[in-house]
Amino acid sequence: MTALYRDQRQCAICHTYTTFTCVNAKFVFDDLDMDGRPYDMSLIILPYWVQQCSKCHYCTTDIRINTPQAAEVIKTAAYLGLINDQAFPYLSREYNAASYLARFTNDYANAAWHALRATWKCEDTHHPLRGVIRQQALDCFLLALQHQQPFAPTLSEQHLIIADVCRRHGEFNSARHHNQKAAQLHPTDATHAAINIQARAIEENSMQRLARPQI
Ligand SMILES: [Zn+2]
Repeated sequence: MTALYRDQRQCAICHTYTTFTCVNAKFVFDDLDMDGRPYDMSLIILPYWVQQCSKCHYCTTDIRINTPQAAEVIKTAAYLGLINDQAFPYLSREYNAASYLARFTNDYANAAWHALRATWKCEDTHHPLRGVIRQQALDCFLLALQHQQPFAPTLSEQHLIIADVCRRHGEFNSARHHNQKAAQLHPTDATHAAINIQARAIEENSMQRLARPQI
């Protein structure tokens, strides 16, 4: 199975066709960071987790799928401002717009993932606004948790992801709190091993990328 394939997709909003490179949803990445970033393939994969319609600028994971209220939101000055925001790298603008749209419709889980992927792009270029986007991702993950919108397979894994986003943001007390919550929620052996490594990084006040342990 390959991770990437080409596909022509019709926009759910304006019905224009655009050809995209797409990420195979069933592809399993061997090496991940603690926050779910594919370790060695992220530079290849990152551009393809978001799609922008070539005509109406609808940005989402798959433009064939309609997002409630998208037809109205994508015409607003706020949305178009994100698409055209020169302060961010090009790819981050698409993720920022997709995150804004998802958050507007209370889809906090997808809003968080889009914002986190925008953060990864900004990290790669040491962009000065990477902390701003990571904060948005963190806000959305916490809202998703509050509204019981799963963004990882288990509740323990969800707290582990939040712990990592907090740690990379320098919020070590919050990171410790969520890592301890992850430990209390019956983690699998693989999650437990990751929690232990996360705990060590938190106590060392490390804000570096952290690979998940191989079990
Ligand atoms: Zn469109």
